[in-house]
Amino acid sequence: MEDLGNVAILPGLVNAHAHLEFSDLSEPLGEPGMGFVDWIRLVIERFRQRPGTSEQPVRHGLEESIRWGTTALGEIAQPNWLADLFEQSVLDTTVFLELIAPTPQRMAPLLELALRHVRPVGTSRHWRPGLSPHAPYSVHPQLLDAAVSLSAAERVPLAFHLAESREELELLRSGSGPFRGLLEELGTCDPELFPPGRRPLDYLKQLAAAHRTLIIHGNYLDGEEIAFLAGHAERMSVVYCPRTHDYFRHDAYPLEKMLAAGVVVALGTDSRASSPDLSLLGEMRRVARQFPSIAGDVILRLGTLHGALALGHGSEVGSLEPGKRADLIVVALPERDAADPHELLFDSDKPVIKNYISRRGADGG
Ligand SMILES: [Zn+2]
Repeated sequence: MEDLGNVAILPGLVNAHAHLEFSDLSEPLGEPGMGFVDWIRLVIERFRQRPGTSEQPVRHGLEESIRWGTTALGEIAQPNWLADLFEQSVLDTTVFLELIAPTPQRMAPLLELALRHVRPVGTSRHWRPGLSPHAPYSVHPQLLDAAVSLSAAERVPLAFHLAESREELELLRSGSGPFRGLLEELGTCDPELFPPGRRPLDYLKQLAAAHRTLIIHGNYLDGEEIAFLAGHAERMSVVYCPRTHDYFRHDAYPLEKMLAAGVVVALGTDSRASSPDLSLLGEMRRVARQFPSIAGDVILRLGTLHGALALGHGSEVGSLEPGKRADLIVVALPERDAADPHELLFDSDKPVIKNYISRRGADGG
């Protein structure tokens, strides 16, 4: 027997959305409250300047994720991602291959790569495949169609950044605004791609045909769109990234509305380009502070079971029950009492002191 002291034992945390290749950043790009399109410019600039591979940042990000109690992860990866790092890691990672092609010319080679990604060869596979057509402004409609079909045919999940910023809604609504300026700068602006009068709901309807869809952010989804997601909760979820949301000073997140409607809301750290670290516990603590009306056990579920459901492995992980893998973490608690033990977990900055991860086998068990 080991006496762990005053601690909470929790299911391993599920970080449903990260881009680990930015994990070498010591602080976010730009400054809090900056325009989203200007931030995208900084991200593009960084991609252009960075020499070599993403090996060090990704390695660092995997280690940091484990240190903060994450046991399952949804990672967005570039076409040149390094499979070995995920193959060797104890984390149960779904690797969503990022597909960015606003013009038809770049589509064919990407789709070939996507097909290889969802049908990997070899038997010792410790990561799971997924696809991530990036966002409405960076993905040609035909590419999105093809990714949705591939997701359905190969039964892999799909992640799509949607309703993330006001600027994106403006582009969909009117075909203009700061995003239009950026696309013109990049030489990828085809006005025919943005017929006026579109909205996130048009995309949700299209994405509903995928095997499983994670809507990343969904900061500006309206009531009708939230109802649509609730009606498709078996196969569609939203990933809320609380501290990234705060970084851009978006309008208040419609979390209570989503939960009341029955949407499966998972949590993500997003990347260190917009978040201070890769702590999913930090994200849960932020939710607890900003939404005092939401019960502690619900917040705990957002960071565990809902993440597992969103990624499609709710029957394997996400809660401590017979038949599931025993991925669990131990979090130190402050030396005081509270009527609700969740308060001790969330109203605290105590660290994860131990984690136990039963590595997922190549047979999926
Ligand atoms: Zn993202």
